[in-house]
Amino acid sequence: MTSQTTLLTPRSPTSSAYAYFSLGMLLAASLDGVRSGQRVPADHWRTVKLLVTGGAGYIGGVVAAKLAEAGHAVTVLDDLSTGHADAVPAGTTFLPGSLRDDAKAALGNDTDAILHFAAHSLVGESVGNPAKYWSNNLGGTLALLDAMLQTGTRKIVFSSTAAVYGEPESVPITETAPTRPTSPYGASKLAVDTTLAEYARMHGLGAVSLRYFNVAGAYQAASGQWLGERHDTETHLIPTVLQRGMTGKAIQIFGTDYPTPDGTCVRDYIHVADLADAHLLALGACEAGRHRVYNLGNGTGFSNREVVDACRSVTGLDIPAEEAPRRAGDPAVLVASSALIRVELGWHAARDLRDMIDDAWRFTQARSAQ
Ligand code: UDP
Repeated sequence: MTSQTTLLTPRSPTSSAYAYFSLGMLLAASLDGVRSGQRVPADHWRTVKLLVTGGAGYIGGVVAAKLAEAGHAVTVLDDLSTGHADAVPAGTTFLPGSLRDDAKAALGNDTDAILHFAAHSLVGESVGNPAKYWSNNLGGTLALLDAMLQTGTRKIVFSSTAAVYGEPESVPITETAPTRPTSPYGASKLAVDTTLAEYARMHGLGAVSLRYFNVAGAYQAASGQWLGERHDTETHLIPTVLQRGMTGKAIQIFGTDYPTPDGTCVRDYIHVADLADAHLLALGACEAGRHRVYNLGNGTGFSNREVVDACRSVTGLDIPAEEAPRRAGDPAVLVASSALIRVELGWHAARDLRDMIDDAWRFTQARSAQ
């Protein structure tokens, strides 16, 4: 274990995320003492050592930044297949590499926990190329779990997806809803969730899976660095609307005849910074031998038309919209229930749709100014 000790002061004493994570740090300190056979001074919390896989990507990057800002030693492992080297947050150690070949070296023998984001995540692509998803998402995770067992890392927080539920029978979707993924992407994530439950049972790992739908917004790290969505081919609604807004092109609204109040699909949006806080809470909730699953969302859906209107209002731009046919595979309404994580871990979404669009817009403008 690292000999470095740090007195960590929660940045926001009112944030339950930090309260929970402090508990995790204390546990790490006492575990350290047990392993080394020495007493850990009660007033010393050593730096928690964490591995963030996929930390050069959108969500992993924001989580890595927040963990580093909280004073933890963060290593980012990312093969840059979809991430960007310049999106790795300042204050972390970047190790370019793959789960299969480099996880063991990245963990060393003193990593306390993993936050696992590295995965392919395009539903449409997964339908056309399922092998890519099974190999990378499940195969890569199995390699990571092997490396955990070999190195003694005992905790893992997994970025799963609400796509594991498939077409919902009712909304909001709870954790007990049937899991019937409709894409290889969702199926590969569900297989990882199942694997984590087995590894927790068999090997005593502490694991938490977080399942969520539409993530939006951006995060400006304490270093000033903006972290946000940077897909080579952007398909998500909010960044697409904002990009169209910048270029004056029309946004196509896919489907206007759904059984919803305004005929367009309804989705559950969550701010990437709120999602990051949930990951910090989940880390504190990893318990040996247990696999927990939590859904995340803002509890309220927004229709595609409402999102476009909100983008117009935030940017002040008259973004034109045109009606287009339905996009294959789009369910009418996807909204998750966050009741369980609210009750058990005290998480809540602190940011609303306007905050998400506002931050995504700042990020878009910051990038276009580069
Ligand atoms: N959408 C749209 N036009 C676009 C992109 C997306 O109308 O240019 C719609 C899409 O059909 C869905 C909603 O916006 O109803 C959210 O899609 P997104 O791809 O952002 O996330 P998903 O819910 O598919 O994960």
